[in-house]
Amino acid sequence: MSLLTTDVAVIGAGPIGIELAAALKRAKIDYLQFDAKQIGYTISWFPPLTRFFSSNERIAIAGVPLMTFDQLKATREEYLAYLRQVVTLYDLRVNTFEPITDIRRDGDGFKLATKKGRTVKCRRLVLATGGTDRPRKLGVPGEDLPHVHQYFQDPHEYFRQNVLIVGGKNSAVETALRCTHAGANVTISYRQDKLPEKSIKYWLRPEINGFIADGRIKAYFNSHVTAISPSGVTLRTDDKSFDVPADFVLPMIGYEQDTTLFKKVGIELAGDCQAPVLNEATMESSIKNLYIAGTSVGGTQDKFHVFIENCHVHVERIIAALTGGRAKEVPTEFEEPES
Ligand code: NAP
Repeated sequence: MSLLTTDVAVIGAGPIGIELAAALKRAKIDYLQFDAKQIGYTISWFPPLTRFFSSNERIAIAGVPLMTFDQLKATREEYLAYLRQVVTLYDLRVNTFEPITDIRRDGDGFKLATKKGRTVKCRRLVLATGGTDRPRKLGVPGEDLPHVHQYFQDPHEYFRQNVLIVGGKNSAVETALRCTHAGANVTISYRQDKLPEKSIKYWLRPEINGFIADGRIKAYFNSHVTAISPSGVTLRTDDKSFDVPADFVLPMIGYEQDTTLFKKVGIELAGDCQAPVLNEATMESSIKNLYIAGTSVGGTQDKFHVFIENCHVHVERIIAALTGGRAKEVPTEFEEPES
């Protein structure tokens, strides 16, 4: 078993974790970075050619421009290539596919255990582990059947199939539109009495409303999934229960944060979202020398307000805290992002 020592350990190599690593390198601070999977893993499970809602300049990191060949917002593929490019440009060493399995306090520092059997001793620790670790569950029988796709896959898969989509916000709407355009027969089950217009991107709204109005997409409002079988879904409304045929079921009902590491080391979590308690000026958590960066600060978000685009400032604050410098002025609330 090998022992590694460093000043700062960074867990997580999503956009903000990478941006932080680049800043640590520029500041000549000794660090080691780990990720349980490949860099940008959360983005890698977007379906092919998904375009970011955020503008390129808002998700660009570490001062490296993000340009696309068609001037449109970056796709999943373009952004993953961009992340690889930033890591290559700064020559960042990320220990990928090396999950951290344990964090212990070690005096004022920390001792980490990795799944590859290594121990890492560090003085300071940054968790940039994200907030969307696993899909939220419906909690109904049949949810684990193989035709229930918690992650929307290549729309081609759904050509001429009956697809039942659960949810009514951006993921559900975008999935419904892409599946319809790919030739699927789409039904939406949503628990509210209408789509939440304000929560849906303005460029998606006219099309989804049009497709529902002309019957290309069937929508059951005020409906709840009560069971899933290999060939269909049972829906319940106020007055009845009925079956809808479904070759594929796509619950697009949001994501949850995995708080295992937070709890292991004893970080205080608060509120409905179970977000880590932190000092917003420094991003230091309830534990001395342990900082939180990126979308992990939001916990399990019900109403999304923390995105890549409003997390860049975490890097500045953490670098300032680590070097005894001054970070930019801290806004009292998260700025409303563009998207
Ligand atoms: P979300 O905004 O959390 O919406 C979840 C939806 O599922 C809501 O309609 C919610 O209903 C419903 N829901 C939650 N729990 C449920 C349950 N137990 N049973 C039935 N329905 C349930 O998640 P999202 O749509 O995946 O969006 C997450 C974030 O990703 C957002 O910031 C979104 O803008 C972003 N996004 C980005 C892209 C892109 O960049 N291309 C694409 C899609 C999404 P209620 O409405 O009643 O709460």
